[in-house]
Parts: sequence; structure tokens; C-alpha cells
Amino acid sequence: MTRYQLFINNEWVEPHSGRWFDSLDPFTGEAWAQIPRCDATDVDRAVKAAAEAFEGPWSKLPASERGMILHRLGALIERDAEHLAAIESRDNGKLRNDVLGQIKYLAKYFYYYGGLADKIQGAVVPIDKPKVFNYIKYEPMGVVASITPWNSSLPLTGWKMAPALCAGNTMVCKPSEFTSASLFELAKLVAEAGLPPGVFNIVTGSGAEAGGPLVGHPLVRRIAFTGGDEAGRKIYMAAAEGLKRISLELGGKSPNIVFDDADMESAVNGALTGIFSASGQTCIAGSRLLLQASIHDEFVQRMLDKIRMARIGDPADPSMELGPIATRPQFEKVLRYIDIAQQEGARCVAGGHALSGPGYGCGQFIEPTVFVDVRNDMRIAQEEVFGPVLSVIRFQDEEDAIRIANDIRFGLGAGVWTRSLHRAMLMADRIRAGTVWINNYRSSSYTTPFGGVKDSGIGREGGIEAVKEYMEPKSVWISS
Ligand code: NAD
Repeated sequence: MTRYQLFINNEWVEPHSGRWFDSLDPFTGEAWAQIPRCDATDVDRAVKAAAEAFEGPWSKLPASERGMILHRLGALIERDAEHLAAIESRDNGKLRNDVLGQIKYLAKYFYYYGGLADKIQGAVVPIDKPKVFNYIKYEPMGVVASITPWNSSLPLTGWKMAPALCAGNTMVCKPSEFTSASLFELAKLVAEAGLPPGVFNIVTGSGAEAGGPLVGHPLVRRIAFTGGDEAGRKIYMAAAEGLKRISLELGGKSPNIVFDDADMESAVNGALTGIFSASGQTCIAGSRLLLQASIHDEFVQRMLDKIRMARIGDPADPSMELGPIATRPQFEKVLRYIDIAQQEGARCVAGGHALSGPGYGCGQFIEPTVFVDVRNDMRIAQEEVFGPVLSVIRFQDEEDAIRIANDIRFGLGAGVWTRSLHRAMLMADRIRAGTVWINNYRSSSYTTPFGGVKDSGIGREGGIEAVKEYMEPKSVWISS
């Protein structure tokens, strides 16, 4: 079994507690790695290392050199993508091929932000006073704390790391206690890429033991969080206490809306990948499928025909389409929601059960599940399940679709399927979400902002704007 050490100051160190906990393979159920159990002492050590590195070489390095280091790190991620994907998939149970695609794509974030490092410009500002000159320069904030969930440890950390380091900040990263290993593997590449000691550090453990001390540490100036809205709210309050800047990428219950003029085949495929990718364990899952009443029955039937063919099993097997649920508590939560939906009167037309037996490892699988006759006020339509469970809701016309789509506390993503350009643009304008996909679902890029509105979060990752989210403008006044 692999036993990891903490990564602080480019060194591998024992946790202060002298204790480790097991990381479990969600397919086999076996403990396969030991992860250090951090406490406030380790967090303090990591944050101080990051603060020293910030005051020392990193923020003073010419931006072009920082950029070259990020570029090298991207190349190393690409070189070792197979290995990183195998580790991450072993920890979170996602299909290894899907994770490989994600990690190869992550390298591009480092190339993009590496290239951007020496292109962040300030401004000379016209002033309404004589004989004074004002300019604005953008400066890094200091130590950034990254806190991430279990569904995509490496990409979700990388999306923060690339712009934060590009801007000249240093970092302490706390991955989910369920999926810490891949970040330690990334740390092995950090020194090779030439990141000075202390620029990137890792602490591991639970939200209470490691996450709390990290967000509360007085030397942390910026928090970048991805996770559930319950933890997000607590961290937001801790950030308020310390007057820290924060971004929150939280949950969703995204509507995927199909009109009767849509290309049926691509809409059916879009509805299925919208919800069942990563067995539903994605924040942007299209978990509310809104179908225009006139196509409802045919559309559901076409989905069911495809679901019957789905190959479910070992995430390392490239022929599989759905893998296990990442953690035992999440597996139990999804099953509870299936019960809730049935009690509420939703009708299950596909799945609805756990899968066990040969080919299903320790049995942490849930069938792709579809509920019809769902009303938007049911819990199954309002609450994030984070599993392979689709709620199908009927609508009559555009107004009805917009009303249902927006009648939710979340606002992360939305899909619209129609051949009408006018209708597509109307929906894009009126749906309250951070991202709207027209005739596609899940498209994303390092070049464009991603994030949520309403209870889905605050701030954006990706694109040029993301770097400014890790910088402070400084206004300089000069008189002759
Ligand atoms: P979670 O909120 O339980 O945990 C996320 C991280 O926060 C973990 O590292 C955890 O240890 C830490 N944490 C928990 N409480 C904390 C506290 N009080 N102080 C400091 N740290 C704390 O989320 P999860 O169950 O790991 O992940 C699933 C959630 O993540 C879903 O709600 C999903 O929608 C969301 N998510 C959002 C996005 C996005 O980009 N919007 C992407 C992926 C996942």
C-alpha cells in the first residue's frame, strides 16, 4: 500500500499527528493508499511556507519566468497523464479514459495561464486634477487556499492553481479526504517543473481537522473553494470573519430543456451524457430534463432504449460507460433520494437499484435511473442528488419552460435543444445560470469563464478574468 507524506516547501514531511487514514478504491472497496491526517500544526507550517515563498522568490520573479515554469508543469502533466489518470480514477471511480481526457486537457490550462503570465497589464487613468498622474498595477494577493471535492480532484485544483500561480500567488491545497492521492502525484512534478519551495503545498484530512484551520489561518488572503453549498456557506462565513477574498463553485440542479423542434437524436444523446457522465457525479449534471409535452413519451422511450444498452462496471475497463459511486456515504445518499422520489409519487421507468455481483466489485454501483411524472416542487427536482438519477418534467411552451428552469435555488448550467435561433437566444437570455449550452451540453474551455449564479456560487474560473480574481489592483498617484 502506498503511504504518502505531506508536501510542504517541496519536501515530503510526516504529519504532526503521526496518523494516516486509508483511501479506498470505490470499485474494489480495498484500502490502497494511506493519506496523512493533518491538524492545525501542519496547516500552519504549510501556510507559513507559502507566505515565505510569496515574500521571497515567487512574486518577485519576472512574470515571463513564472509563465515558463507553468508551461513546463503543463508539459509534465501531459507526459505523466496516464499515471495521473490511473491514480485519480482509482480514488474517485470515474472511468479511467474520461479522467485521462480531463488530465490531458488540464495541461492546456497551464499552457494558457503560462502564456498569460507576462500579459497582465495595468492602466494609466485619466484624472480630473492637474499635475498628478495615476496608474493602476495588478498585484498578487498572497497565500491562496484551495479546497476541493472528491469528484475531480486534479482538474478542480489545477483550474485554481494555474491562474493563481500565474498571478504570482502561492498556494496551500486541501483535496477531499476521499481523493487526495492524485494531488500528491502532481506534487512530484512541481519541483521538476522548477517551482521554488513553498509555492505549492498540500495538506490533507477532513474539512474539520484540516480545512477549518486552513480557511481560518490569518496568513491566507484568498480562498478558492469547490464543493457543496453547505460547506461553502461555512467557509464563506469564515472568510467574512477574516475579511478574505473568496470564490465558491458550488452545486447545481441544471435544467436540460428539449423543444419539439430539436434534433431528436442529438438531444437524446445530450440528455444522457448530461446526466450520466461520471455516473451523475458532476456539478453541471443536467439532472432536470424538461421535455415539451408533445415529444415527451417518444423522447423518454428513445432514452430508455439506449440506457438498456449501457455498459456498467470496472472504471479501468475502456469499454465501460458508467463506473461506481465514488464514496460509500454518497452511494447511500443516492439510494435515499431514489426512495424519496418514489414516496413523492415520481414514477421510476429505468433503474432505481444498486448493482452487485460479478463485475460490480464491492457493489458500490447504482443503475442509471429515470423518474417521470416529476413536479418541479418535489425534492427530487429541487435538491442535488449527485448521482445517476434523472428527473423528467413536462412543459407546454417557452414561458412554461423558463418558469420551471428558473424555479430553483441553483444556477450553474442549462441546456436548450431547438432548431430555432430566435428561441435559443431568448432562452439563453432568460435562464438564470452561469453557463447555457445550446444544442450541446458540457462544452467547456480554459479560455472561457465558468461558475454559477444564485446558490451555485460566487466568482468564475477559466479565461483571462480568472487571473484578475487572484490579483488586487493598486492605484499609484504621482505628483511632480
Ligand atoms: P463538500 O462540500 O462536502 O467538500 C468539499 C471540500 O470541502 C472537501 O475537501 C472537504 O473536506 C472540505 N470541507 C468541508 N467542510 C469544510 C469546512 N467547514 N471548512 C473547510 N473545508 C471544508 O463536497 P463534496 O461532497 O466533496 O463534493 C460534492 C459537491 O461539490 C457537490 O455539491 C458538487 O455540486 C460540488 N461541485 C461543484 C463544482 C463546481 O464547479 N461548481 C464542481 C464539482 C463539484
